[in-house]
Amino acid sequence: MKAVMYHYVREHNDNTPYFKALNIEDFRKQLDFFEQEYGIANYEDISNLKKGILTTKVYLTFDDGVSDHFQYVFPELVKRNISGIFYIPTLPYVQNKILDVHKTHLILGSTEAHKVLETLNTLILPEMLEHHDEFEKETYIYQTNDKDTLRTKRILNYYLSYKYRSQILSLLFEKFVGNESEHVKCFYMTTEQIEYMSKNKMFIGSHSINHPVFSRLNEAEQKEEIIESFKFLNTICNVNTLKTFCFPYGGSASYNDITLKILEDENCDFCFSVDPFDIDEHTFELKKQHLPRYDCNQFKFGQCR
Ligand SMILES: [Zn+2]
Repeated sequence: MKAVMYHYVREHNDNTPYFKALNIEDFRKQLDFFEQEYGIANYEDISNLKKGILTTKVYLTFDDGVSDHFQYVFPELVKRNISGIFYIPTLPYVQNKILDVHKTHLILGSTEAHKVLETLNTLILPEMLEHHDEFEKETYIYQTNDKDTLRTKRILNYYLSYKYRSQILSLLFEKFVGNESEHVKCFYMTTEQIEYMSKNKMFIGSHSINHPVFSRLNEAEQKEEIIESFKFLNTICNVNTLKTFCFPYGGSASYNDITLKILEDENCDFCFSVDPFDIDEHTFELKKQHLPRYDCNQFKFGQCR
């Protein structure tokens, strides 16, 4: 089987000219392509993963709980009688906030990257940055970013100490995007929409609470992110029948053995990282808690434009 990951899928919007999203037309073309080449997993195929039964089809996954998934993706999957797994971070529902990772996308989506980087450089001091060599080499390998975007993303997501990050992002957000509480309502799916999808052959999984880099957290913090996010999702729909999680960011530097042990202890049926490989029965057993997953941009029609 091939697992494929999507984030934003939407129509072009003039208010966010630089926003990187897969156009809905390209999404449809890519689904046509997958259907012809490999077939796409339906409800039964995904359910069967619980028993370790695999097919050679493509399994669709959608990260971050953004409203695109209800508005554009869900109707398209229903029409084709196929299913997807939707991975939801829970902080937006508990605190009515846009996650830092999405603030970064919205900021970079509304303004040219070099302007953002210029402002960012005036806000940070060297002592606010933590250096991680592995993040320089192992992050964003499979994405196509220009130099300034890459630098901005690495600073905001990996280097800037969590102690200062929220504050700095809020300043950038106010300056380049606008009022946070106005944006939060339309940016994510509502709990009612999530519930409705789960009743209509879609699967809901956890994508943590805060969308952190797990390898930057200690064991207790990692546990809380995993256990509490499942607890919250269970108040919306039953996420225990097929219990699945995917790592924020997802590359091998973004989690560690502690993360895998917690997921195993929590009896997750399977979990996804980001790594461009197929999954056979052997891989499924061996890497159950960090199965490889392709980015949609690694296949025809999957590039943002
Ligand atoms: Zn994510």
